[in-house]
Amino acid sequence: MAFATMLLLSFANDALADWLRREAPIMGTRVAVEVWVEQAQAGEQALADVMAEMERINKLMSPYIEASELSRINESAGSEGVVVSQELFDLIRRAIEFGRLSEGAFDITYASVGHLYQYREQIRPSVAQREKAVALVDYHLIKLDAEQRRVTLPRAGMKIDLGGIAKGHAVDNAIGILKVAGINHAIVTAGGDSRVLGDHRGRPWVLGVKHPRGEGSILRLPLSNLAISTSGDYERYFEVDGRRYHHIIDPRSGDSSRHLLSATVLADDSTTADALSTTLFVMGAEAGLALVNKMPNVSCVLVKPNGKVVYSDDLVAPSDKSD
Ligand code: AMP
Ligand code: MG
Repeated sequence: MAFATMLLLSFANDALADWLRREAPIMGTRVAVEVWVEQAQAGEQALADVMAEMERINKLMSPYIEASELSRINESAGSEGVVVSQELFDLIRRAIEFGRLSEGAFDITYASVGHLYQYREQIRPSVAQREKAVALVDYHLIKLDAEQRRVTLPRAGMKIDLGGIAKGHAVDNAIGILKVAGINHAIVTAGGDSRVLGDHRGRPWVLGVKHPRGEGSILRLPLSNLAISTSGDYERYFEVDGRRYHHIIDPRSGDSSRHLLSATVLADDSTTADALSTTLFVMGAEAGLALVNKMPNVSCVLVKPNGKVVYSDDLVAPSDKSD
């Protein structure tokens, strides 16, 4: 009898082990989480915790929420700045490091001109407006006081935006939550940023790199314990006279960057993959590949305007190298 009960219980437990999935629109994009759980109830809690974390980061860092810490920084431009949470302070500091690494291709002050674009309404600045605003784009101007956790934008009209790095940060935090919950197999996606925890139970996860113009993917990558981010000119854009105005801005000109159609980065963490995909998109193929080829544990796949796909050295057999 006892044996039969045990058998039943073990069947019941087996039945509970399953993949659980949840999706929600957060941070202006689609957030999806999929986890393998031994117990459905604990899994549901972990999924809820991940979604709550995404909402929390959105409230902290969204430029569209007036009360967010990020909005308060932007509002205070031209004054003595504001004291912010350690989390936001650290992410701004990290964003500035990507600015240095890329000699300004990644620049969170791009928003000083970026806010003049409204993609849904097909609004863009005139050349004069753009030139005026682009004078406020320079991450070197941001003052960080680590002791007080104070962030200062010294010039009136300056703005920052973490859209190129915050989703990656959110995905990393989500993976952290899942690990603490004892989950060993998971994928977290926020728009173009994904990170996989473990493998797909004995096989790698397989993720596609989207074709920047057509349907489907240009290649499929087997991944375990890795982050992958894609930045593309097809995510938020409008066209005027055959010219595409999209959401990734070249900080030097204040115009949309047109050196690539998409940039995909593989890295150990999602914050790095996210920031670097935006960075490479602005840098273009030649400078972008040179940067990635110097970085350990980072790979990239770039799609040029003519549709040609190029890869970082670690992904290419020496005999296949060409541009
Ligand atoms: P992603 O989809 O990760 O490439 O991020 C695109 C987002 O990054 C945009 O929607 C902006 O919020 C932000 N962004 C655009 N241009 C830049 C830039 N040059 N440097 C840093 N962030 C940028
Ligand atoms: Mg990015």
